Amino acid sequence: MKHLTVKAPAKINLVLEVLKRRKDGYHDIRTVMHTLELADSLTLTARRTDLVVSCDRTDVPTDERNLVVKAAQLLRAEYKVEQGVHIHIQKRIPVAAGLGGGSSDGAAALVGLCRFWNIPVDYERLQGLAAQLGSDVPFLLRGGCALGTGRGDRIFPWQAAPGLWMVLVNPGFAVPTPLIYKNLKLPLTRRKNYITLLRPAISKKNPEKIGEYLYNQLETVTLKMHPEVRRIKEILAACGVSAALMSGSGPTVFGLLPSPEVGRVVLKTLGSRYPFICITRTTGPLD
Ligand code: ATP
Repeated sequence: MKHLTVKAPAKINLVLEVLKRRKDGYHDIRTVMHTLELADSLTLTARRTDLVVSCDRTDVPTDERNLVVKAAQLLRAEYKVEQGVHIHIQKRIPVAAGLGGGSSDGAAALVGLCRFWNIPVDYERLQGLAAQLGSDVPFLLRGGCALGTGRGDRIFPWQAAPGLWMVLVNPGFAVPTPLIYKNLKLPLTRRKNYITLLRPAISKKNPEKIGEYLYNQLETVTLKMHPEVRRIKEILAACGVSAALMSGSGPTVFGLLPSPEVGRVVLKTLGSRYPFICITRTTGPLD
């Protein structure tokens, strides 16, 4: 195979609950994630022995800090591959936005490189490598919808709700995830567990019902630091979205659209006020 192009979808968190701080510095969380049609793409081209990563955005590092480089190195070591590859990343997902862009690129590199180098795709084995890359990467190997526990890396697949219309609004500044967790104050009492109620709402693909159970505990931190994120939620509500929530550690806000027409209202209302606004849909698991 000389060339291969693979998609790396964005994710949103429909629920993100933080349970406790762990001794290793991470947090135990419970999260429900869903993938979207919005996606980066990775183009793989054969090279004799060396590993080269390039990206159409200059603010994304292309050295070992890039999860695609790390993924390729891990896979080469795991399967003792000697061939090289050039991977070009075309970014469409905003960076450091709570949409899992870097994690999804890493996941797509693992699966794409298996195909490219004729390694049988063994998801169980890839899960282990994915978890070394980051907490969101195991989910993004397959995508669709899933509950994530532990650091978010223990994945329990749920029936997905593909085709739901969403609007994404990103105010254009980066939010580093570690900073948000560092400033999080864990409440003494736990909120009611809505996750069990969310599951049937998702399988029925009911945006109004799904909207009732959306929750992100990290909003308490990010909304205080960046009032603009709260403002976006208010504007979306005024436009008639079923519900709006910040994804991950932010700052991107997603709104569930009862119909694509409401998306047009949002586009008209917001105009060019924010650097990134996009209408997209939820997707099922990757093939
Ligand atoms: P997370 O919630 O996991 O922090 P995010 O969606 O908020 O993810 P990303 O877009 O993954 O954020 O970017 C976080 C950081 O990861 C960026 O600052 C960037 O330097 C680094 N990074 C590494 N690989 C990539 C990549 N392939 N694309 C974008 N950023 C990457």
